[in-house]
Amino acid sequence: MRFVFRRYSALLLMFGAGCGAGLGQTSTQPSAVTAAAVPSATPSSAISHTSYNFIHVDGPYIAMTFDDGPQEKLTPKLLDLLAQHHIKATFFVIGQNAAEYPDIVARAAREGHEIGNHSWSHPNLAKMSDESVRKQLRQTDDAIKQATGKRPTVMRPPYGSISARQKHWIHDEFGYEIILWDVDPLDWKRPGPAVVTNRILKETRPGSIVLSHDIHPGTIEAMPETLNQLEAKGFKFVTVSELIAMAKPETPAPSPSHGQNSSPANRPASKGASPVASPAG
Ligand SMILES: [Zn+2]
Repeated sequence: MRFVFRRYSALLLMFGAGCGAGLGQTSTQPSAVTAAAVPSATPSSAISHTSYNFIHVDGPYIAMTFDDGPQEKLTPKLLDLLAQHHIKATFFVIGQNAAEYPDIVARAAREGHEIGNHSWSHPNLAKMSDESVRKQLRQTDDAIKQATGKRPTVMRPPYGSISARQKHWIHDEFGYEIILWDVDPLDWKRPGPAVVTNRILKETRPGSIVLSHDIHPGTIEAMPETLNQLEAKGFKFVTVSELIAMAKPETPAPSPSHGQNSSPANRPASKGASPVASPAG
């Protein structure tokens, strides 16, 4: 059994704008994120629904994640850049885009990147019936399987919007780990490449899950400098699932009472643990 450091939020019902899906800017700060270190002796059933904002790891490992694609021109451009750097990333694809550009999804998978489920049409899952959510995820799961020959094992809810109950049944039914993020450059607001780069460099630390979107030209323009500088700082890039597999307990000797909410988040209570503004997802 592996050590698993799971982070799960209470009830994330947050809205964000962006992602090109047209939800308004009715944003609220995400609720506080709690975390517990789970030693390997603890049955995994002790925590029934989980999500990850970042992973506690020993080394300088991070996961770059790109949402909302694939995009016909920008995603291949990004794949070229990642290949030059020998960097593995994770793409949370929208099902209808994956169905439209299966070759791009196939290429990404072939080149070692992870493909995750980001719903079929980018709705706010927290406001939908279970049946509608199931359909969104199933169709996308099928499109990814069609393109890559493999079903995804991770999903990211659009806008980071998902209830605790939904996390539970989605994890049980699809086997997905629910992936959120701790670094959000708000690139969907198109602030310009330099701002995107600076925000990512400022927030990223070991174990970070960096959110951005491969559907915005400025994000792709920001990546050469972003990747150069992250490399210069010594970061190493892995997929989200690889990062999760590296998870370490918070402390060498976890408290005996490691139940829910007994362990504070290992981040200082700063904006690092919760996105600065409205999460885009
Ligand atoms: Zn999105």
